[in-house]
Amino acid sequence: MLGGSIAPCNSEGVALRDLPEIAQLQLATLALPDWHPEAHRTPTCVVNGYAIDHPDGVIIFDTGVGADSALIDELYEPDLRMLDQALTHSGMQLAAVTAVVNSHLHFDHCGQNPLLYGSEVPFFIGRSEIDAVQNEPAYTIAEWALPPESQRCLVDDDVAIADGVTVLAAPGHTAGHLALLVEADTERVVLAGQAVWNLAEFVDEVATPSNVADDELRPIAVDTMRRLKALEPSRVFFAHCDHYDPDPNGTANP
Ligand SMILES: [Zn+2]
Repeated sequence: MLGGSIAPCNSEGVALRDLPEIAQLQLATLALPDWHPEAHRTPTCVVNGYAIDHPDGVIIFDTGVGADSALIDELYEPDLRMLDQALTHSGMQLAAVTAVVNSHLHFDHCGQNPLLYGSEVPFFIGRSEIDAVQNEPAYTIAEWALPPESQRCLVDDDVAIADGVTVLAAPGHTAGHLALLVEADTERVVLAGQAVWNLAEFVDEVATPSNVADDELRPIAVDTMRRLKALEPSRVFFAHCDHYDPDPNGTANP
């Protein structure tokens, strides 16, 4: 769990020659409570995290739901998959993790962060997410969401964290929401967290009140979608829905 090879905040990265393996980790299924704005359309939802098998070590994007909250168990009846087991299944190891990026700090994106608390692994988190956890009691499960201060790497704007890997400010769903760009000479992939709730929103560039509750953030969420598309990624992957393929009939990618 040495943080050694991952660059500190504000380093300059360069693209990788080949895209590293990116594993989608299905970390939970949730039953949405009746009051949830999407419950009528999607009574259950998946929670995806991602693991990048980078030459410098494994980089995690979102850690799913934790196992020790009676409140979350009662509200969402999570069917959990533990991060270490999901990594092993994908041929990676928790001990090889060198950085974690949380798209945001809602409970289903940071729940297994504590597996790496007390190590030297840095957590890249949008700065305003920390404020939200500290000031809004219902924002998340704070014990899951807040790394020890020595492990926090607070993000205000885009920052390269390793060769070919850049954390992107991607506000919308929350003000401090982040995405991750993985870039090789020939291809880019974006991990976009909860930039949208379902794929149609991304295709149509629509920010819904249920995914972006704050009126003022809705146009910003659309700007984020357009910005991510403008990077011309071959794929965009999300936390709660199918991935986006800008060229579904193309033959360039497997
Ligand atoms: Zn969220």
